[in-house]
Amino acid sequence: MITLKGVKKVYKGNGREVVAVDNVDLNIKQGEIYGIIGYSGAGKSTLIRLLNRLEQATEGTVEVAGRDLTKISGSELRRARQEIGMIFQHFNLLWSRTVRENIAFPLEIAGVPKNERMKRVDELIKLVGLEGREDAYPSQLSGGQKQRVGIARALANRPKVLLCDEATSALDPQTTDQILELLVDINKKLGLTIVLITHEMHVIRKICHRVSVMENGRIVEQGPVLEVFRKP
Ligand code: ADP
Ligand code: ADP
Repeated sequence: MITLKGVKKVYKGNGREVVAVDNVDLNIKQGEIYGIIGYSGAGKSTLIRLLNRLEQATEGTVEVAGRDLTKISGSELRRARQEIGMIFQHFNLLWSRTVRENIAFPLEIAGVPKNERMKRVDELIKLVGLEGREDAYPSQLSGGQKQRVGIARALANRPKVLLCDEATSALDPQTTDQILELLVDINKKLGLTIVLITHEMHVIRKICHRVSVMENGRIVEQGPVLEVFRKP
């Protein structure tokens, strides 16, 4: 589902160069929950942003759902991005819009007709467990509920891949577990491939099948979670 080959990302500016991602190879299978863990500055955030072309690779190829994202642009890139949902640490909701309107937003942009839109929003609200909160504004929701809206919005266009950027880092431990359980549920029900970045071992142990450990832009260890973290 996702294949990275020889990927390098260099940020340039002020006469300085930062190598944020350095010669990364990665292979993530369909239906997998894949974790990328590392300390702050390791390059996790750059790596996940390469997976929907919020960043363009300096070198290498980034294939997601059958397309090399490094080689496309315009309408083809927009189509590719509809197959890649993303959720964020701080939710990135539209604050002047209701739960229903936030979830419908990507469907409006994709030109989905109103009837179909309403039907799909209702399904999504049920899927993430927000029944009864359809007309609330984000400021009226708990952190966990806000992330549920984020997840529903990310799934609106029926993506094949869900990218999670520190999606539980702003939540308390109990809410974190509830959101992680929701992600597992969605992975099973929809067969969705999930890639998450985190600095928290607990998140990886709880839901990931395989993990890569990042340090200084490189993947220094990779494998099934139980093998990578079995060390005494
Ligand atoms: P992480 O998500 O693991 O904290 P990042 O991908 O955010 O790592 O950062 C990796 C490296 O790239 C860091 O040294 C960071 O300072 C640098 N970096 C990240 N974004 C930019 C940018 N837009 N411009 C320049 N340097 C950046
Ligand atoms: P819209 O353009 O749909 O009316 P807003 O202008 O209210 O939405 O918000 C645009 C963006 O600004 C939101 O996606 C959010 O990231 C940010 N934002 C707005 N209000 C707040 C707030 N009270 N707290 C945090 N972020 C906010």
